[in-house]
Parts: sequence; C-alpha cells; structure tokens
Amino acid sequence: MDDGYSALVEKVVDQLLEDHPPGDTDPVTFLRAQFDAGLAYVWFPPGEGGLGVPSDLQAMVDERLSQAGAPPSGRVTNAIAAGQGAASILAYGSEALRRRCLRPLFTAEMMGCQLYSEPGSGSDLASLATRAVRDGDEWVVNGQKVWTSGAHRADVAILLARTDPDAPKHAGLTQFVLNMRQPGVEVRPLRQMSGGAEFNEVFLTDVRIPDSDRLGEVNDGWSVSQHTLVYERYNMPRVPRRGEGAISLAVDAWKQRPDQTSPAALAIKAELMRHWVDMEIVRLLQMRAAALRASGTSGPEGSLGKLAVSVVGRRFAEWAAAVSGPEGVLLEEGYDSYVDEPGAMRRMASSLAMLCVGSPGTSIAGGTDQIQRNIIGDRVLGLPREPAVDRGVPWSQTLRN
Ligand SMILES: Cc1cc2nc3c(=O)[nH]c(=O)nc-3n(C[C@H](O)[C@H](O)[C@H](O)COP(=O)(O)OP(=O)(O)OC[C@H]3O[C@@H](n4cnc5c(N)ncnc54)[C@H](O)[C@@H]3O)c2cc1C
Repeated sequence: MDDGYSALVEKVVDQLLEDHPPGDTDPVTFLRAQFDAGLAYVWFPPGEGGLGVPSDLQAMVDERLSQAGAPPSGRVTNAIAAGQGAASILAYGSEALRRRCLRPLFTAEMMGCQLYSEPGSGSDLASLATRAVRDGDEWVVNGQKVWTSGAHRADVAILLARTDPDAPKHAGLTQFVLNMRQPGVEVRPLRQMSGGAEFNEVFLTDVRIPDSDRLGEVNDGWSVSQHTLVYERYNMPRVPRRGEGAISLAVDAWKQRPDQTSPAALAIKAELMRHWVDMEIVRLLQMRAAALRASGTSGPEGSLGKLAVSVVGRRFAEWAAAVSGPEGVLLEEGYDSYVDEPGAMRRMASSLAMLCVGSPGTSIAGGTDQIQRNIIGDRVLGLPREPAVDRGVPWSQTLRN
C-alpha cells in the first residue's frame, strides 16, 4: 500500500530539480541539496537524508534524477561507505557522528572503506585479531586488514576490532568509525588480474579512535557488523531494468555479426537467450528482495540475491567471449588506470572483457558463494548448523591461522 508516499516523493523531486537544475548546478551542490531534500536515502528519517518513506521509492527517485542529468551520488562512487556504512552509522552512531558523516559520504566528499577481513579471517570474520584497547576516552588500535577496497582513497573506515579477547569470538568485538587520515594508518595496494589496484592491505599501528566514534555497544560489534553485511548483501535498492547492463553488451555484440543466419551465429544466439533468461530471473529475484525489504522483512533474501547474481553473472562472464570472438578477450587501452577510479566497477561493466576478468571477485566479496549457501541452508532450509569447535570458547584460547 502506497499511502500517498509516491506523490509526496514526486513533489520533492520536482522541487529539487526546479531549485537546482542539474545542468546549471555543480555536482557537489546538487548532491548536498538532494541529501537535504531527503532524497539521498528516502527510507532514512527526515533531516538525515531521508523522508521516512518505504525504501522501494528510492528507485523511482534515482530514475527521475538520472533522466534529468543529475550526477551519480556516493551510493555509486563511494558505494561501500555510502551504502552499508551509512546504514550502520544511522542505526548505531551518535547524533554527532551522523551529522559529521552521512551527508559527505553521500556526496562522496568523504570517501570510505570497510576494514573487516584479515589475512587469517575472511569467511570466519568473527575470528579476527585486530585489537582495540581502551585508553581513557579513546581506543588504541593495532593490527592488519586485507582486501580493503578503496582504502587508498578513504578518509574514514568502518572498522571491526577485538575489544575482549577473553570472551567467545562473537562476543568480544566492537565496531568503530576510524579516521584513515592519521599517523599509524599505512595503506599498501594489491594489484589484481584486471590490472587495477583497488584492494589494499592496511596496517594499523597505535591508531586512535575517540570513544564517541564507536558504533553500538562495546563488545556488541558482531550484531552491528551483521547489520552492515545485510546491507552489503542487499547491495542497495537499485534493481536493473529488463535487458539492462552486461547482457545488453552481449546482445549488441551478436547484432553486429555479419553472419546472423550461419549455424555458428544461431548456436550462439540460442546460448545468448539462455543467459538473457537467467539474467531476467535474477532481476525478478532482486525485485522480490526489494519488495520484501520495503515491507520490513529482514531475512535471508540478501544471501539468495547475492548468490544468484554471483553464479549467473560469473557463468555469463565466462561465456561472454564466445559472442564477441577475439575482441572479447582484449582489454581496452588505459584499462589499468581507470579501474583505480571511484565508480570503477560500473565502468568495468561497460566492457565484456573487463567483466570477464572482474567476475570471479563477485563470488568472494561480501561473503563467498559457499558461505551464502551455508546461510540459506541454516536459515531457509532449516538444515543442521555446521559443527563449530570454538563455540563458547574464549577467543584467546581458540586455534587460528
Ligand atoms: C572484490 C572484493 C572486494 C572485497 N572488499 C573487501 C573490503 O572492502 N573490506 C573487507 O574487509 N574485505 C573485502 N574483501 C574480502 C572478502 O570479504 C573475503 O575475501 C571473503 O570474506 C572471503 O574470505 P577469505 O578471502 O579469507 O577466504 P577464506 O575465508 O579463507 O575462504 C577460502 C575458501 O574456503 C571456503 N570456505 C570458508 N569457510 C567455509 C565454510 N564454513 N563452509 C564452506 N566453505 C567455506 C570459502 O568459500 C572459500 O572458497 C573483498 C574481496 C573481494 C574479492
């Protein structure tokens, strides 16, 4: 039931576009005004970037603003921080922290990253070893993180650290917002097979965080991080249009073939249609997840959607070279400079070859396919949980890599 929310949102969009025509407004001014109008995250409360209306209306806002030529927001160019980061800051941050971070994260004036994974703790995130020790009104942090997307350009980070080593592994963690621009934060890029270096190792040595930049209660970081990861798996409420994105590149490539009635072209067309249908099923699954989310149901639909995007997308990317022939494996000139930029993933999707080298990452980032299957097995199918030898054991006594 809409309750007149659509009309309200349409009116606010009209007003924003009238007051700040995108063609005559610089991008940051426009995005600040979008935030202030409550059109950054429509489901957030008024005054904090939202209007307090159902989240599925954000897609309509994004569509209208994009058609009017509005600039992409931080939800695209600063996705981790302005996506799940902002959602966690809203839910668990102090008022001062929300005021300091939410708007600049959305406008991408403040870039951010997520310091979760460590060399010995990825899927088993709760086993992480980075320590935060209380020192008066501050915390002192030491440790190493890895695979941190965007750390090389980040101003702040969402950090998960161990605050009680003698509690069982899930019970001794705390989440913070960390200032990345301080002594003791060392970021080292990792080069990947696509040629870019958007991931990093991050070394933290005696780094300080004011207690006021804590998210949630001390030692309750596991539930805070689950909130963060649920938002990561939702991957924001933007559902693609039918036939949009990577599949459209393949359709275009097939249409450019000079031999459209040859047996080879027809065989590839049959395969192409199979991939098109798979992509459409994923899109419908994402729509279903968005509808459930809008109705307030938080469940395993994020895992289902993530697994489907990963499995179908990877199968498609591995096949995509067939439709474009040798060109499908040639990277664009200058590819290794642009994958480093904000919004790189979006630009990567503009070439089948880049899609091919980038696709394996989808089945790892944000929780691997196997971990999504475990979640679905536990929470959807009600299968017995995996045996865990460290349940209830103090983290300091557990065996780790
Ligand atoms: C594109 C990309 C971006 C990323 N960005 C970030 C970021 O910004 N911040 C951040 O903190 N991290 C980031 N990561 C890291 C990512 O979260 C981890 O790589 C991921 O959680 C897996 O951890 P791992 O690499 O340590 O693998 P491991 O956990 O060591 O897993 C190795 C293999 O074992 C399997 N496995 C592990 N446990 C189980 C189990 N219980 N059941 C079945 N199979 C299992 C896994 O599925 C995998 O195949 C990123 C990774 C990628 C690829």
